[in-house]
Amino acid sequence: MAEQDYDFDLFTIGAGSGGVRASRVAAAHGARVAVAEEYRVGGTCVIRGCVPKKMLVYGAHFAEDLEDAAGFGWTIAGKSFDWIKLRDHVQADVTRLEGLYGQTLSNHNVTVFTERATITGDHQITLASGRVVTAKTILIATGARPHIPEFPGHEHVITSNEAFHLDSLPRRILIAGGGYIANEFAGIFNQFGSKVTIANRSDTILRGYDEAVRDRLLQIAMVKGIEFLFRAQFEYVEKQDDRSLRVKLTGQDERVFDCVMVATGRVPNIEGLGLETVGVELGERAQIKVDAFSKTNIDYIYAVGDVTDRVQLTPVAIREGQAFADSVFGKGAPYAVDHSCVPSAVFSHPPIAAVGMTESEARNQLGSVRVYQADFRPMKHVVAGRSERALYKMIVDAANDRVVGIHMIGPDAPEIMQAAAIAVKAGLTKADFDATCAIHPTMAEELVLFK
Ligand code: NDP
Repeated sequence: MAEQDYDFDLFTIGAGSGGVRASRVAAAHGARVAVAEEYRVGGTCVIRGCVPKKMLVYGAHFAEDLEDAAGFGWTIAGKSFDWIKLRDHVQADVTRLEGLYGQTLSNHNVTVFTERATITGDHQITLASGRVVTAKTILIATGARPHIPEFPGHEHVITSNEAFHLDSLPRRILIAGGGYIANEFAGIFNQFGSKVTIANRSDTILRGYDEAVRDRLLQIAMVKGIEFLFRAQFEYVEKQDDRSLRVKLTGQDERVFDCVMVATGRVPNIEGLGLETVGVELGERAQIKVDAFSKTNIDYIYAVGDVTDRVQLTPVAIREGQAFADSVFGKGAPYAVDHSCVPSAVFSHPPIAAVGMTESEARNQLGSVRVYQADFRPMKHVVAGRSERALYKMIVDAANDRVVGIHMIGPDAPEIMQAAAIAVKAGLTKADFDATCAIHPTMAEELVLFK
């Protein structure tokens, strides 16, 4: 078929971070683009992930900030918290952002179909309305959804999707999982006054992060009143007459909670897309397999973001969408996304941030490493009477003085890390950090004062 005979040059399925970026950039390169989204434009990050979560994190932090204010001479009488007010403010902003994302697409003349799209033949897509369209290139950017383990009563649990819409705060909440979402929501609910219990299948939290930093979070979270159960998996959940949930976990007595949330990873959204019709190849975690240029085994079908399960982070999906659109529709040479040395953060209370190798990864891969550590009580905490300590770690390759990893837990760690990550990505040495003058007094100055 000649190029002009297709209805569109690009048809994107899924209007999340990766899909929106790819669609608008392809359109800016002159492509005729359509995108199908069956739920809300913006995807997980904007609608039920990073953005509303961060707003809840901000809201939750006031609990401690208001307490700490006393140490600075403030008396705040009659303080109270209104969950419904925060929930509705957050949702109003999500709707505003959804509108902006839609606006971006229409400004670039991208046709938006607010319905499900299925691949029904070569270069052919059928929309839920029955309309059939053709496209020269198809991009799958359908993201991922929460994985819910199978156990009797699993229909009674919620996921992070529902956590944003609760009608009231649970008095007692059990969160299953020990990863990003479990620790972030544990911090949020704990600050709002819920009694939080985390139960993970293994004996650790945040696998993949540096051990010292994970231990520090565990220790601080326990002091804040969060309970941790390890090697605990669901045997059953039963709903009781008063709507509370009776839960049995392996190795534990039956317990009663008002809400059970699972945060046990996310699985690629590959169902009902018609992938089998054209033979798109999947990997062992049911992710769409792609090459470095996000191309599947089918020449005209590409995939970006969480559905490919490379690095499940919004900025990575955005980069993949951008690289795909530039490579396929731009005038320059095709290029691949560099997935190495991606900085990340956990918006727990306090937050964690990391870039590069952990100490144990560096010891295994490099052999000889130097490790620098700053374990300190932030100045603000001293005046507030808060005992919480921050921990920064720098991992250096002893062979060439290169900084190969930085790991932090403490106030504003993600904000500080964004700048530090540039230095690590650029391959700077410990001597380069040492040569940089400190900004005093800050927490971040510890990064240039390591001895
Ligand atoms: P994570 O992968 O972070 O953690 C999953 C947790 O669930 C782990 O503790 C794991 O245990 C446990 N688990 C995995 N599979 C099962 C299972 N079958 N049964 C029981 N437990 C299980 O997943 P999340 O759901 O927290 O988050 C999903 C992804 O979303 C993250 O990987 C991240 O990429 C992204 N995200 C990023 C955020 C950020 O950037 N701040 C915030 C939120 C999400 P084990 O200890 O054995 O590994």
